[in-house]
Amino acid sequence: MLPISFEVYPPKTDDQRAQLDRAMSKLKTFAPHFVSCTFGAGGSTQSHTSETVQRLRASHGLEGVPHLTCVGASREDIRALLRLYRALGVRRIVALRGDLPSGTLDRGDLRYASELVRFIHDEHGGHFHIEVAAYPETHPQARDALADLDHFKRKVDAGADSAITQYFYNADAYFRFVEDARARGVEAPIVPGIMPISNFSQLRRFSESCGAEIPRWIEQRMRAFGDDTGAVREFAADLVAAMCRRLIEGGAPGLHFYTLNLARPTMNVLSRIRTA
Ligand code: FAD
Repeated sequence: MLPISFEVYPPKTDDQRAQLDRAMSKLKTFAPHFVSCTFGAGGSTQSHTSETVQRLRASHGLEGVPHLTCVGASREDIRALLRLYRALGVRRIVALRGDLPSGTLDRGDLRYASELVRFIHDEHGGHFHIEVAAYPETHPQARDALADLDHFKRKVDAGADSAITQYFYNADAYFRFVEDARARGVEAPIVPGIMPISNFSQLRRFSESCGAEIPRWIEQRMRAFGDDTGAVREFAADLVAAMCRRLIEGGAPGLHFYTLNLARPTMNVLSRIRTA
């Protein structure tokens, strides 16, 4: 069985906690390797990530994996969080630079994710399995695609054990990215991040800011379906499942699903992959 993992965001209200519990009760039947939980860079609600990591284990028996960002944080802030995570029994961390809410200038002590990876490694040796982000369609702030690849390699050289990609709908971009990384001597597994499609207009807005491309033919189809949510759901699940099958056949070492704390869109894709 190909390893799969899920990503969730930390719920902040009782309703959101109930929603996450409902989603995890269904999704855990797919036996995920781990469930990672995002972390709001520079936000005031960061403790929700550690609470969620504990909840995933206590209520669902799942390995909760915290994301950790360095932007806007001091070394001491990060040291304290790492100590907390170690005390909670965490063995895997997703290490990121993060994006500050716009208008904030405080950059923090560490500038790039590679510096965070090195810091974690220096402070905790091999205790944590360190995941980093990768961008098959290039990070939006990168000087260019090749510089971004070099910066990705820096994270691995600094001690990252594996990577999860930004989501994409062009499998060729993933294959080429992996090939280019291998040509630079990166051997770490690079797991594709998969975004099942539930709310297309929301996805389009989000994709613009994170630099993921929605191919024109998909946009056109979605537009043609209009308000026919059933047709949208079927088309979206078919298309994402077909891409996942291509990724698996092409050697992807696993699949990481961005669940947005919903079970249905991810299950629709996974059930199609399994029955194909
Ligand atoms: P980096 O790897 O540091 O790269 C950032 C930019 O700087 C890139 O353009 C890179 O090319 C450039 N760069 C890197 N090193 C150098 C250098 N030495 N000199 C010049 N340029 C350099 N955000 C959150 O806030 N919270 C989360 O929980 C979260 N989870 C994520 C999970 C995944 C799997 C992914 C793919 C992204 C996630 N993000 C999250 C978004 C991420 O924080 C942003 O994309 C952010 O802008 C970059 O983070 P990074 O770790 O990739 O940064």
